[in-house]
Amino acid sequence: MMPDLLPAASRRDFLRSASGLVAAAALPQESKPNQQDDVQLSQIHAKTEQPEKVPGPIESSDQRTGYAIVGLGRLALGEILPAMGKSKYSKPVALVSGDREKAHKIAAQYGIKPTSVYDYTTYDQLASNPEVKAVYIVLPNSLHEEFVVRGAKAGKHILCEKPMATSVKACEHMIAACKTASVKLMIAYRSQYEPYDKALVKMIRSGKFGTLKQFISTNSQNQGDPTQWRLKKSLAGGGCMPDVGVYCLNAARFLSGEEPTEVFAAIDQPKDDPRFTEVEASCQAILKFPSGFTATFNTAYNAHKSQFLRVEGTEGFAELNPAFAYHGIKMKFSLYEPQLKLEMAHEPAIEEKDQFAEEMDHFSLCIQKDLQPHTPGEEGLQDQRITDAIYESARTGKPIRLQPPPSPTRGPEPTEEA
Ligand code: NAD
Repeated sequence: MMPDLLPAASRRDFLRSASGLVAAAALPQESKPNQQDDVQLSQIHAKTEQPEKVPGPIESSDQRTGYAIVGLGRLALGEILPAMGKSKYSKPVALVSGDREKAHKIAAQYGIKPTSVYDYTTYDQLASNPEVKAVYIVLPNSLHEEFVVRGAKAGKHILCEKPMATSVKACEHMIAACKTASVKLMIAYRSQYEPYDKALVKMIRSGKFGTLKQFISTNSQNQGDPTQWRLKKSLAGGGCMPDVGVYCLNAARFLSGEEPTEVFAAIDQPKDDPRFTEVEASCQAILKFPSGFTATFNTAYNAHKSQFLRVEGTEGFAELNPAFAYHGIKMKFSLYEPQLKLEMAHEPAIEEKDQFAEEMDHFSLCIQKDLQPHTPGEEGLQDQRITDAIYESARTGKPIRLQPPPSPTRGPEPTEEA
């Protein structure tokens, strides 16, 4: 019987996809599905209806990019491994964990060979496992640098969780190590692969809201356990800012398509709260961009969960609320309709897709087609530079000037083909 480690919905998704994989594996080589002879069903509804969801290209199991998942904590077990069951181009083929018993249980659950379970000391032996094309680093923040560098030396492409690291120097080291090893590096900014965010980027770029003027956002949650690594500076690098504030910061950048030139920030670290002996409990930041666009955001580890963003242009505004959740993102936008002589509020219903599956599949296609990822290491490095400036501003009480990055920090916008 399958150990009860996954939520029911995720187990269903996995079983559905796992049985598909087993069926594909059982077919003789020449009759395995591929993108050329993929099952295609015709559309039966009128052209005025939203097109139905029909099967698209799905790679057979042996053509999917094999990942080693490094670190089996909440995110890996709760989101990333279940999302592999929904992905088209990615599959888990190895696990790396300090807890052998847990790793073997999860390996059995996901059909991963017991010989493909590693610990943090045997991690480098991934070099001789040809099934593993990429590693997905899901460890506490300050460990990202070491495991990215070792993964690159083992010849594997690297998908690394946000925040990229805990210092600019570490980010630069990670980028250089991947360049030297000729492997790709992508930072797992899942929001940039999420359908509502992607639609919002398109609407902004098309000029739907006129010229963007303001961005306002919050990403807060109330932390419990005072002993967790997220509250230890040496492991987390900071408090709420690099963990959840980075979503607001990154969204201000990718929605506007601009880079900030100045930042002014304040942080609070209450002395009487045992959770915050090492890191900030809350942070407020104001960022100025070259066009005159400004971004203001709040982030906290001591306020009730709240996640929204709003972009305001000269001719309309849009909100995502919740903005940064794993599921159930919602959008509203408001525009004046001259023909109707009315300000109209819209709530588009965009098909939900698993953000982690979308993000992993983008990276897998970049590996398979040798393309540049949309969120490479440079994107994480730029957020780290701005985060450092936020802390410096909070410490000095002064605005901090920022130099533009030497080159664009993002690759081409993700499409269905990558
Ligand atoms: P977690 O604490 O649940 O898991 C961390 C894993 O690392 C555990 O299995 C733990 O055993 C292991 N580990 C190895 N060395 C450790 C050490 N020295 N101290 C503590 N743990 C150690 O954390 P998580 O929530 O899975 O977060 C992991 C990473 O994923 C972080 O970088 C975090 O910022 C990121 N994250 C991203 C998202 C997202 O939406 N993209 C969400 C949550 C977490």
